[in-house]
Amino acid sequence: MSVLTDLIYGGSNAVAGLTEGAVNDAIAKYGADKEIAFPDTAYFFPTIYAATGVKVKTLGDLTACVGVLKSLITNEEDLGQALNAGLATAVGAEIIEGLKYAEGGDPYAEDSGIGFVPDPIIRSLGVPLVTGDIPGVAVVLGKAEAAADVANVVKDYQSKGIMTFLVGDVIEQCAEGGVKMGLEFRVVPLGHDVTSVIHVVTVAIRAALIFGNVQPGDLGGLLDYTKNRVPAFVNTFGAIDAVVVSAGAGAIALGFPVVVDIDLGENQVPGALESVCDHAETVKKSLELRNIKIKATELPIPVAFAAAFEGEIIRKSDMKAEFWSGKNPTAELVLMKEMAEVEDHKISIVGPDLDSGETDFALATYVEVAGKKMQADFEAVIERKIHAWFNYMEGVMHTGQRNQIRIRVSNGAYEAGLRLKDFAEVLYNMIMNEFDAVVDKCQVTLITEKAEVQKFLDEVAMPRYAARDDRLSSMTDESVDRFYTCILCQSFAPAHCCVVTPERLGLCGAVSWLDAKATNELDPNGPCQPIMKEGCIDERTGRYETVNKMVEEATHGAVEAVTLYSILEDPMTSCGCFECICGIEPASNGFVVVNREYKGMTPAGMTFGELASCTGGGVQTPGYMGHGRHFISSKKFIYAEGGIERIVWMPKELKDDVGARLNATAKELYGIENFTDYIADETICTEVEDLMDFLTEKGHPVLAMEPLM
Ligand code: SF4
Ligand code: ZN
Repeated sequence: MSVLTDLIYGGSNAVAGLTEGAVNDAIAKYGADKEIAFPDTAYFFPTIYAATGVKVKTLGDLTACVGVLKSLITNEEDLGQALNAGLATAVGAEIIEGLKYAEGGDPYAEDSGIGFVPDPIIRSLGVPLVTGDIPGVAVVLGKAEAAADVANVVKDYQSKGIMTFLVGDVIEQCAEGGVKMGLEFRVVPLGHDVTSVIHVVTVAIRAALIFGNVQPGDLGGLLDYTKNRVPAFVNTFGAIDAVVVSAGAGAIALGFPVVVDIDLGENQVPGALESVCDHAETVKKSLELRNIKIKATELPIPVAFAAAFEGEIIRKSDMKAEFWSGKNPTAELVLMKEMAEVEDHKISIVGPDLDSGETDFALATYVEVAGKKMQADFEAVIERKIHAWFNYMEGVMHTGQRNQIRIRVSNGAYEAGLRLKDFAEVLYNMIMNEFDAVVDKCQVTLITEKAEVQKFLDEVAMPRYAARDDRLSSMTDESVDRFYTCILCQSFAPAHCCVVTPERLGLCGAVSWLDAKATNELDPNGPCQPIMKEGCIDERTGRYETVNKMVEEATHGAVEAVTLYSILEDPMTSCGCFECICGIEPASNGFVVVNREYKGMTPAGMTFGELASCTGGGVQTPGYMGHGRHFISSKKFIYAEGGIERIVWMPKELKDDVGARLNATAKELYGIENFTDYIADETICTEVEDLMDFLTEKGHPVLAMEPLM
């Protein structure tokens, strides 16, 4: 037997033995009927569920799984068979990790890793992955000979936007090397036991179930999905034992190449298992193996610039300066000008800079653009990107937009030399980079002189915001001649297509009709294509011949008909990254609307994750529909079923967030004051009986409506 297959089988058999022992011990201790589950998932033990269709719910269910696991280990001299044994190791790791949750509580509370990754986090990664904002997923495992080696590799991934999961002592080594960690920094420590690597494997596996509509039990479909659609790879540091090798074999079976930093000589498998002993080459080789291309943004500024710094929090104690609308006037404005009015790359700073000794500043960020194909509608699309771009600077935190913003600059960034002209350079370079199809010239003015900012705000910015708001509120589905498709999510959900209209934004919440229009203008052959609004078949449900035709084309025949305004009749498909899910609540003839962040139970008897798993992957499930937060207050929200009057329950946070707009819509449509008072939330009830009592007591309008079915 070759050294490699020998090692794989050695590891798989060892894990099989450990797993069997652990299952038997757990059953002896708690009994076979003891319920067992990973936290906050609708996919049971995801690897076992996806590969076999078996729903593990109790300890007793695991006995049969151990049998399946053992049957995958044939001990035959054949690389394909050995890779299957690697999958057995994955199943074993899942069981061993799952048993850690048997006690109740968080088994990772004491660990610096996070353990199991809940479903909502995976859903939230959908958009950044499809847009290439997160270009790949790295799994970094082991213990490096020198801590700096692994820290440098991980920092390099971080600067490239790669999502990195850490397993083993590399966690402490990275911490020692100054790597900023956490989901927001795209460096996620999983755990110290090698079995905790399963927590990133199940992210890939659940992606197949959530976005890919891969059916549980379809092992071939699963492996095909992870190989072709999940851009993940593995780097190991330090010596590797048989268990690591067999786990690596499992990764390879899923299509994830493994790069080790020791010399494997002839045991390398080109394209799947390769040695790179020079750590300066690790990143390059890994990206090559997965064919991941990084869009480089080299900016002339003294601090790092990467999406991985977007979530960075800067505390008061670490703050050099603050621009905050709570204390001083602020404004952010992108304005379209005539060609002759803009001097390309002109940067002006009006007022004190960061080195003036002040800590509190006013700030007007004023960007003037001109271009033959520029349209006033694109101003807001560009303007909204200021938030992300400022955040990408290491040591800069930005929140808000328009006249309500807060920017903090850290001491570290200031000491590195960051000044206001760098903010302007970021804007200039990013606009010319991302919007070059419509912007030919761009100039940036930053005003910190308080009186000047106030004047700019009153005379230029506020009137412009107001004009835009008027335009937006007058923009209805009736007032435009076209809608747009968006198929960005097809890289994960091949059968999904959003139809974006002025009154119904994309379900991710990130693509409004104006965004789709701009995307189409920037990239005419890209993900957003116009649908001319012709051939209306039914106004009530929003059924159009042209929409059906475009959706059928866009989904390669998978979806033949969708309506724009119905949740029961040919509802729009969902990919998986939706902000909210709307689901039927039969007792009240109403609907619950639940946001991704809500962790608790709903009166529909399901959590967000369970409701969400009713749809997704481009399938249509009447009664369940993913959608954006902003859609809730739209006049077109489940219009065919009676509209927002059907909403009976929402988590409190969501209700508060959309309340003002929802109430305004209810007032306009039905003359109801404070409609949100009629909608229950978790502070009122989570059981259906209590919900009915509440609705009756309030006299909720749904009680007088036609039955849904
Ligand atoms: Fe994905 Fe739809 Fe959002 Fe486009 S609009 S990114 S397809 S969820
Ligand atoms: Zn999506």
